[in-house]
Amino acid sequence: MTFPVIGMVGGGQLARMTHEAGIPLGVRFRLLSDTPQDSAAQVVRDVVVGDYRDLDTLRDFARGCDVITFDHEHVPTEHLRALEAEGVPVRPGPDALVHAQDKGVMRARLTEIGVPCPRHRIVADPADVARFADEVGGWPVVLKTVRGGYDGKGVWLVGSEEEAADPFRAGVPVLAEEKVDFVRELAANVVRSPHGQAVAYPVVESIQVNGVCDTVIAPAPNLSSELSGRAQELALTVARELDVVGHLAVELFETGDGRVLVNELAMRPHNSGHWTQDGAVTSQFANHLRAVLDLPLGDPRPRAPWTVMVNVLGGDYPDMYQGYLHCMARDPRLKIHMYGKDVRPGRKVGHVTTYGDDLADVRERAAHAAAYLRGTITE
Ligand code: ADP
Repeated sequence: MTFPVIGMVGGGQLARMTHEAGIPLGVRFRLLSDTPQDSAAQVVRDVVVGDYRDLDTLRDFARGCDVITFDHEHVPTEHLRALEAEGVPVRPGPDALVHAQDKGVMRARLTEIGVPCPRHRIVADPADVARFADEVGGWPVVLKTVRGGYDGKGVWLVGSEEEAADPFRAGVPVLAEEKVDFVRELAANVVRSPHGQAVAYPVVESIQVNGVCDTVIAPAPNLSSELSGRAQELALTVARELDVVGHLAVELFETGDGRVLVNELAMRPHNSGHWTQDGAVTSQFANHLRAVLDLPLGDPRPRAPWTVMVNVLGGDYPDMYQGYLHCMARDPRLKIHMYGKDVRPGRKVGHVTTYGDDLADVRERAAHAAAYLRGTITE
């Protein structure tokens, strides 16, 4: 067989959906998964169960793969350097990926290339946090462990020196940031290939509930074409300057005075891009695969005036399939994407998308379906 083998590290839903996008291309997929039950391990045939933190496991896994890519950013940078030195193409490469792994490195580099970020610096202890608060005009400030956070874990909003003690307990460097008084959160998503070809998706609005992404609206409503163009350009600049290969999500804060500041970067398919599965000519997953294979990228344009994605979180009601009949009958344009995960309260177990001409109607249909599947509404 001449079709390439893609080695995907991580067995979560992003791997599952990237695999799905590879099926029509006939490319082969090999998965390194923590357990045989992980979301992607349930559907991929060639699964290696092992620990991505172990270099020998990674080496064995990479043997026979044409390229390695990821569904999370937790593989130790030095292991990726070792694989590259042994001739394994790693995409995105370790020198790019480190900016999605370490918020301190990311802030330093973005500042260097002139990309607007919240004011920030690494802080040594709670007394130093108090000095930082003075520098940026007072409390509260945001503290983040530079590595290991996700879905709001590893992020603290602190209002005093006493409250600033917690983040230091993990023994990881702590980054302090001014608390940005943003009006909303946006994401500018781009895909870049090793050749340097790049495409930009429409800028989306992402609405978080309790630190977890709840709804994504594509394109972001009432965003001026000037600001949307600036956000797309900024994301393309980051992709080029950091030599990113694959999908890059740039999470942004929009401020009341018409600026966009970078919150964080993800170098893999991202929740803010799930709408593209049904709402764009080429999905983020298909374009991520094209990029890591260095194939020409597909058209990122939307198929409908509005597409809305709503995450389905686990509720108290374990049987999601029960809700399919109602949801599908109510909205024929609805698409349901489930990850094969056990339903646990608060856990992301799937998402829905729908589309149309009238934003209020599209939002209502998407929110209704997600709430119905979760069991928080019954009619
Ligand atoms: P995670 O790694 O968990 O995704 P983020 O850095 O994205 O962490 O922060 C999670 C959330 O915390 C953001 O979506 C935003 O709502 C809030 N947040 C993060 N940094 C700031 C900041 N500097 N100012 C205001 N809010 C922030």
